[in-house]
Amino acid sequence: MFQSLKKKVKEFIGKTEEIAEREIKLSKATKIKGILRKGIKLSEKDLEGILYDLQLDLIQNDVAVETTEAILQELKEKLLGREIERENLDRFIKNSLRETLLDVLTPEEEVDILSIIQKSEKPFKIVFFGVNGTGKTTTIAKVAKYLMDNNLSIVLAAGDTFRAGAIEQIEKHSESLGVKLIKHQKGADAAAVIYDAIKHAKAHRIDVVLADTAGRMQTNVNLMDEMKKICRVNKPDIKIFVGDSLTGNDAVDQAERFNKEIGIDAIILTKMDADAKGGSALSIANITKRPILFIGTGQGYEDLKRFDRNWFVEQILES
Ligand code: GDP
Ligand code: GDP
Repeated sequence: MFQSLKKKVKEFIGKTEEIAEREIKLSKATKIKGILRKGIKLSEKDLEGILYDLQLDLIQNDVAVETTEAILQELKEKLLGREIERENLDRFIKNSLRETLLDVLTPEEEVDILSIIQKSEKPFKIVFFGVNGTGKTTTIAKVAKYLMDNNLSIVLAAGDTFRAGAIEQIEKHSESLGVKLIKHQKGADAAAVIYDAIKHAKAHRIDVVLADTAGRMQTNVNLMDEMKKICRVNKPDIKIFVGDSLTGNDAVDQAERFNKEIGIDAIILTKMDADAKGGSALSIANITKRPILFIGTGQGYEDLKRFDRNWFVEQILES
């Protein structure tokens, strides 16, 4: 994971060390006693070059322009004109990067979905949004498994009524997991399907309703109207946007669009196991200001991990 971004960050640290070597040689060459500095200072000119390279590297690794700028700005503030001891240079740069990346990955608080559900009235209603192919249906199945493993009962709602294939797909998951699915015919009103699932949950004292939704292009006006109707009718407790980390800035645009239209509460990023870049996680959190709840790390039901900002940043910084 994140091999490419990791490599670029390593190169960045290497370049600061080159500058340090040069500075040390220079101060030795002047041979003026007393002027020999204890540490080195990165000048505006020194920084300009390496920050410019870092900017290109970040953008190439799917970090959105807006997020890249936020990262560079904060790094520059941390590094410019600071006297850094030669021996501590590597640690100092890494710490600066660590703090910067953690700041970008706002918000700070960890979201514990289990404790939220435990504290809430039942049934707890979760609706999943996102475009087709991102792994939305698989993710719903993974979340169902996770909640069941934590002693919660589940009903699924086949809220993507636009494609017959989508209903079949979630049906397969419901059979594999042994979970009840509420479905209507293709073309039915998605809000009504989810409404029925909630009714079923109430009647059978089921803890959580997990609802799928349709996901054609996020720019489709009808789709957004349908999503708004789903929310109006069913009042979800949590609206989760599911995005494919491999689609980079597209995932960020989609998240923004859904957030603007219906207001999302949290994010799940799929296919992180195949993501060499890692930039979409940084951008999506930075731009939407919504927490990343889970990441998908494979095709199996177990391949769902709680997102941990510290873990993510260490993955990028470790050499
Ligand atoms: P949907 O159209 O958004 O509902 O997408 P699906 O749930 O059908 O998933 C599309 C494909 O992505 C399937 O082959 C899934 O197995 C795969 N997939 C989903 N999540 C992950 C993940 O976290 N990692 C990997 N490697 N594949 C995933
Ligand atoms: P598109 O050209 O495939 O994007 O289809 P349109 O957006 O023109 O939709 C045509 C009609 O299909 C609309 O008037 C809706 O009644 C219905 N429709 C469109 N999108 C959806 C959807 O996501 N779910 C459901 N249930 N019906 C939809």
